Amino acid sequence: MKYALVTGGSRGIGRAICVQLAKDGYSVIINYKSNHAAAEETLRLIREVGGTAELLPFDVSDMDAVNAAMDKWETTHQDDFIDVLVNNAGIIKDDVLLGIEPNDWHAVVDININGFYYVTRRVLSNMIINHHGRIINMSSIAATHPFKGQVNYSAAKAAIEGATRSLAVEVAPKQITVNAIAPGLIATELLYNSAAEHDNLDIDIKKIVPMRRLGLPEEVAYLASFLASDKAAYISGQVIGINGMYGTFVEKL
Ligand code: NAP
Repeated sequence: MKYALVTGGSRGIGRAICVQLAKDGYSVIINYKSNHAAAEETLRLIREVGGTAELLPFDVSDMDAVNAAMDKWETTHQDDFIDVLVNNAGIIKDDVLLGIEPNDWHAVVDININGFYYVTRRVLSNMIINHHGRIINMSSIAATHPFKGQVNYSAAKAAIEGATRSLAVEVAPKQITVNAIAPGLIATELLYNSAAEHDNLDIDIKKIVPMRRLGLPEEVAYLASFLASDKAAYISGQVIGINGMYGTFVEKL
């Protein structure tokens, strides 16, 4: 059985990736922080499509919690190893720089980038032993495009893109690929919360996204599925945008 660990798999993009990887034949380890009901729903959706999965809650920003959860998983899966790791868990705490309280700065950095480090270092050693692995990191269009009120988030997502390229070259000889996905505006709670914080609920997506719609979590999941597959064995160190041309194109007025 091939295992895939998806952090932040209880909702949004992570849930869609869990379901897609289950359809692809992976036994999915659904990580989340605290929303047990949402994680159970991901589990139900996976079983509905005939897949297998298990829940593994931990806070990706707490190194001790990551290690304790991974120790527990490894004890009950002595002969198994995680072939695919999707570092997807992420949060936003949007405000202009002077409004960002230290707690919110650290939470965004801890979850979006330090979490990548804590989880990846636990999973990578077995990938190296097995000479195979796929690491997929969730970045954002905010890593490369300036958005007001996202200094903390942009910094963390730019960091994960740099980490993706560096780690990719380190582990290439072991046939492990490391790539990042940089979504634009995807229809999830994170986006709706962001719009609420910006008092922008009425923004007309059709005016700012050239494809005239939000992206769907499932569309991001298709990309993750491809990057996890054997078809993507020679693609590494890349950041792939999925954005309906949002932020990449200025329409002529
Ligand atoms: P979401 O709907 O808010 O879901 C966030 C997920 O992350 C939930 O499963 C949540 O678990 C989990 N999570 C949060 N903090 C965690 C922690 N400390 N430890 C473990 N899990 C944690 O977000 P989303 O929109 O799907 O975003 C997923 C990823 O895509 C994020 O990295 C985000 O930055 C990125 N992204 C999203 C968009 C977009 O437009 N939606 C655009 C660009 C990039 P609980 O359910 O337990 O809270």
